[in-house]
Amino acid sequence: MSCDFIALANAGVQALQPYQPGKPIEELERELGLKNVVKLASNENPLGASEMAVEACRQAAEGMYLYPDSSGFELKNKLSDRLKVSPKQITLGNGSNDVLDLIARAFLQPGRSAVFSQHAFVVYPIAVQACGARAIVTPAKDWGHDLDVMAAAIEDDTRVVFIANPNNPTGTWIKKAELEAFLAKVPENVVVVLDEAYVEYVDEPEYPNGLDYLAGYPNVIVTRTFSKAYGLAGLRVGYAISSPEICDLLNRVRAPFNVSTQALAAAVAVLDDADYLQKSREVNAAGLKQLGEGFDQLGIEWIPSVGNFISFRTSKNGEPVDAGKVYQGLLHKGVIVRPVGVYDMPNFLRVSVGLESENARFLEVLPQVLEAL
Ligand SMILES: *Cc1c(COP(=O)(O)O)cnc(C)c1O
Repeated sequence: MSCDFIALANAGVQALQPYQPGKPIEELERELGLKNVVKLASNENPLGASEMAVEACRQAAEGMYLYPDSSGFELKNKLSDRLKVSPKQITLGNGSNDVLDLIARAFLQPGRSAVFSQHAFVVYPIAVQACGARAIVTPAKDWGHDLDVMAAAIEDDTRVVFIANPNNPTGTWIKKAELEAFLAKVPENVVVVLDEAYVEYVDEPEYPNGLDYLAGYPNVIVTRTFSKAYGLAGLRVGYAISSPEICDLLNRVRAPFNVSTQALAAAVAVLDDADYLQKSREVNAAGLKQLGEGFDQLGIEWIPSVGNFISFRTSKNGEPVDAGKVYQGLLHKGVIVRPVGVYDMPNFLRVSVGLESENARFLEVLPQVLEAL
């Protein structure tokens, strides 16, 4: 008799569904024998990597027989200069996903709860449940977070609130005034995570920079990443900025050497590649416009986004169409997008902003796929 390992697992883990990543290009090419597949599924940077980051990575490769600098001294110092915070406020992670997990592990356990919104980034429920804590999921408003409802949902056992600003996969964002009213209401023993994975793309005067609230609210943690606008998704590096006290706690649960030598080197280098970041922003702004106009022409409903992706409703002549079928149809045409059923958006798909030619290819095949259904 083999052992029932599922029964042995922690209660939270037993009920967990693994994160579903976007389909890799090679996998689709293998499966369908296609060439020239376009992946617009994981909010990756369509520009490819920064040359400066690649060069730094190459040079760092020589040191791969040594453990990385676990303190991330150089990267933290550089971030500290840029962000005008102390290195003692920065926690480095293997992607910001790692940091979100550290926050959950430091503050959540059975008997405690975390608040996040419907349609919010799917890593929050996974991180919360893995710790055996209870998720309090609040209804969205116009696809975005309803901060009034979120504040009211906080219970005595709540220790963490996760806010994605902008949110993935909806691309919605929270304004300064809303955030300020919210922070004023949250008890000081509740940690507020401001997940700013797409901060570099946002160009809105009313968008709040989470760092501005650290001084007034020591319970705020801002998380950011090198995966999106900085184009280092494959290297896995992100960070949290918080009070030194919270930073100390996160570092207690952080695995030693959680960020690789190459990732550290590339992140330091890309921070100096202002042209790359500027180009990332420009290509993204143009792509958002191109996709939005394309959807309008096709009569497809889409959610206005300030990220590097857009979620759209799968419909034909105004009638709903099964998103799974549209997803499959697009795959057969060599275009990978992202189903968002796990985000409680079963009739939507999310497309990442690509290069102009990639967006055009998507907009060309989408009506063909819909037509064939
Ligand atoms: C992509 C993303 C992240 C982080 O990704 P990492 O690659 O782990 O840094 C975090 N939050 C949101 C909302 C995201 O979309």
